[in-house]
Amino acid sequence: MKLGGGTHQLLHSGDGMAGESPSFRSAGIVTVENLRRLGLAPPENRMRRGPVAVVECPEFIPCNICVDACPFRAISMNKITDLPRIDWELCTGCGTCVALCPGLAIFVVDLSKPDKALVTVPHEFLPAPEVGEEVWLLGRDGRRLGKGKVVRVWERNKTWVVTVEVPKNLAMEVRAVWVER
Ligand code: SF4
Ligand code: SF4
Repeated sequence: MKLGGGTHQLLHSGDGMAGESPSFRSAGIVTVENLRRLGLAPPENRMRRGPVAVVECPEFIPCNICVDACPFRAISMNKITDLPRIDWELCTGCGTCVALCPGLAIFVVDLSKPDKALVTVPHEFLPAPEVGEEVWLLGRDGRRLGKGKVVRVWERNKTWVVTVEVPKNLAMEVRAVWVER
């Protein structure tokens, strides 16, 4: 799926009023509502079917590493300063782009399990989490949202890719983990 001029208009209409900067620029943190308005949040029915990438990259920066990183050609952009667009049907939630995005701006969300959501995040702090360990779940602003169990950890290019169980209502809020030993 591609966005047309609408995305550009949204960014320059300040998430609301013409002439203002988008709210995430002044706040320094993107919100789920920002992502929805920019077409960057996968539909809930897609997340219910299994893991899918959420690209939280709302600025027109000159970067297209995720486009080349995806082995399934699920990410595209027309020019290098476009927003990355994900074809959520092509995305398998493999997490390759999570590891390779230099901005640590890509996550994978899976709402297919009955009781918990699975969220996959990049992690570049020591120590690395271990499978089975309880870790702190952090929001986009670094706030602790609770604890969750690590179910998968792998590494690529010195970035760990960590999948944690989180309460379903936090699936679009947990965006980092913190290991406290
Ligand atoms: S999670 Fe995998 S399939 Fe989905 S966009 Fe990223 S690299 Fe492509
Ligand atoms: S690799 Fe990351 S920072 Fe670069 S365009 Fe893709 S999502 Fe944005």
